[in-house]
Amino acid sequence: MSYKLIKEKLDNNKLIILDGAMGSELEKNGAKMDKNLWCGTCSVEFPELVVKVHEDYIKAGADVITTNTYASTPISMRNYGMENSIKEFNQKSVQVAKKAIENSKKDIALAGSVSASGSYYKLGIKAMIPGFNEQLKILTDEGVDLIILEAMSSQADIVQTMIECSMKSNIPVWLSISCVIDDKTKKIMLGYNDTLDSPPEVYENFEKSLNKFIKLHKGPILIAHSDISVTGKAIDIAKKNFDGIIGAYPNVGFYEKPHWRSGDTIRPDDYLNEVKSWVKSGAQIVGGCCGVGTNLIESISVLKDN
Ligand SMILES: [Zn+2]
Repeated sequence: MSYKLIKEKLDNNKLIILDGAMGSELEKNGAKMDKNLWCGTCSVEFPELVVKVHEDYIKAGADVITTNTYASTPISMRNYGMENSIKEFNQKSVQVAKKAIENSKKDIALAGSVSASGSYYKLGIKAMIPGFNEQLKILTDEGVDLIILEAMSSQADIVQTMIECSMKSNIPVWLSISCVIDDKTKKIMLGYNDTLDSPPEVYENFEKSLNKFIKLHKGPILIAHSDISVTGKAIDIAKKNFDGIIGAYPNVGFYEKPHWRSGDTIRPDDYLNEVKSWVKSGAQIVGGCCGVGTNLIESISVLKDN
């Protein structure tokens, strides 16, 4: 378990495969979702199932797996009166992922997911900083190989603050950004479109925001938690503006609290074709976000040339 192999592959222009969704795979395996923290409680309540899902992704071909900490942000847990469990939930999530890697006997890297899940943007940046730092510290102390700032879809200044917080951790940081198309202007924006019954959350212009982020962040940038139809366009913009490493891990389906519904699932062959086109456009790290299960990750792992 280290970042060394991933760095070697990236330096040699090889493709990296990520894992897919955690929540929907846990549900398939029988885990119960929490009404507030979604799959965030599973690392403690169903640790053996979290280990299994991580193992399934490794078997499917993932080179990097991600901790089940997207929904257990300190700011969200405090909001639900779970402040005493923040450390336990985040530590346990690293421990179960490490166990899956040990069991696989493969050199798999572990990414610690740090997010702004819960959308507490109205609290303001200053109120959010302690929570970002707290989660970053727990995950790095517990021994993740890299940090993914996941599915950043908020105001650009909040993302910039998260990047600044992450720069203090002495491990590699990947930035994943969630995008939507603005109905009126047809431009690609920071934002997300998770539910069928509410309009998309649309924040700032993606290209302009990206140009702010890359002044601070030099590590890989991934288009994530975005619809497949937006992902290719966002990759092209990212490639035009950023000369670092680009990647993508999109969504399939929608959120119906507290469940991720896959909706009309995409066929593995079709997913592979989409991912192939992104690789052709320059994506070097590919996987899946919400609704993308082990079958889709397995389908794209044939693109690995090692
Ligand atoms: Zn997602």
